[in-house]
Amino acid sequence: MRAELAVVGGGPAGVAAVLMAAGLGLRTTLVEAGRVAGKVAEIGALDNVPGGWSDGAALARALAADIGRLRAAGRCTLVSGRALRVRACEEGTETELADGRVLAADAVLVATGVTAPDPGDVPWLDAPRGLRLPPLWRTVPERIASGAAPAVVLGADRPLGTWLRAHPDAAVRLDVLHSAADAHKTEEVAGDSRVRLTEVRSATVTEEDDGLFHVTAVPAHGAARALRTATLLGNLGSRPALLGGDLVPGPDGYCDPAAQHPRILVAGDLRSARYQRIVTAQGSGAEAALGHYYGARGVGDTNQAPARRRSRPDA
Ligand SMILES: Cc1cc2nc3c(=O)[nH]c(=O)nc-3n(C[C@H](O)[C@H](O)[C@H](O)COP(=O)(O)OP(=O)(O)OC[C@H]3O[C@@H](n4cnc5c(N)ncnc54)[C@H](O)[C@@H]3O)c2cc1C
Repeated sequence: MRAELAVVGGGPAGVAAVLMAAGLGLRTTLVEAGRVAGKVAEIGALDNVPGGWSDGAALARALAADIGRLRAAGRCTLVSGRALRVRACEEGTETELADGRVLAADAVLVATGVTAPDPGDVPWLDAPRGLRLPPLWRTVPERIASGAAPAVVLGADRPLGTWLRAHPDAAVRLDVLHSAADAHKTEEVAGDSRVRLTEVRSATVTEEDDGLFHVTAVPAHGAARALRTATLLGNLGSRPALLGGDLVPGPDGYCDPAAQHPRILVAGDLRSARYQRIVTAQGSGAEAALGHYYGARGVGDTNQAPARRRSRPDA
């Protein structure tokens, strides 16, 4: 039977949306390409999520258990697969998966979050096309051999501080190259003796036959540095994990919920670079599902400013 709400992405936003929708009695389908709450599971240290969660793994288990409980009760369906496109028209929505399946629903909520940019797309980096870097935040300290040449980290995005706090006793050396745009993020790690920070104008990466990465860094001040390392890690920030079809990204690539077709809802990190936190993701997912429930029943929102009011899905 066709779902009343399809949710793409089982992170905090998608799980909160499913819980809210299922609680309201909506037939709900969750599409997840990997593991439910898979990203959250790998956050080493947490201190801003109500409920006393101090690391992501325990929170992720709880979120996955919520979905398991709803599935067992027949209140939501979990589809394992990668969504490629969402389409919307007057009558409803279709979500196309990479394996050819097409899921029909009254509305679709897209909560696919963000993903790492390709090094080749970063303006200050000259890197081979298609080079994939293991992200720092998913790297266990044991992978960064102590005593050997330092690991080179490209970018000084916030996960650097989180990683160092999560591994206070890890005897590692990180040679972090970052652009001026990341300079303000380095304050929280500047006092950590395990980190050498270099603001660069540019860096060139080559992968040599010896299996090592060769990095030539041109600092903002001083002479160029040549680095050789077996461990090259990415920490370059993120870009929205977009779907094709009728999802409408803005000029920065993020998807403003107010700019979408009335049957396409957006929640979580995908909305904006500004609100990328677990609790804001959960709030936006729950709110979008609730809004769909009332909208589909013709109950208006008297608190919503006229300029941002959505037309109803069935309008
Ligand atoms: C290292 C690190 C540390 C962080 N620390 C904190 C912190 O301390 N506190 C905090 O509040 N926030 C923290 N965050 C941010 C937090 O993880 C995000 O704000 C939150 O996970 C966003 O939730 P989301 O549901 O929007 O997206 P995500 O959690 O990214 O979930 C998106 C889901 O969609 C799935 N997906 C993606 N594309 C598709 C597709 N095409 N088809 C099907 N499924 C798809 C993914 O597999 C994923 O499960 C941290 C993030 C990182 C990387």
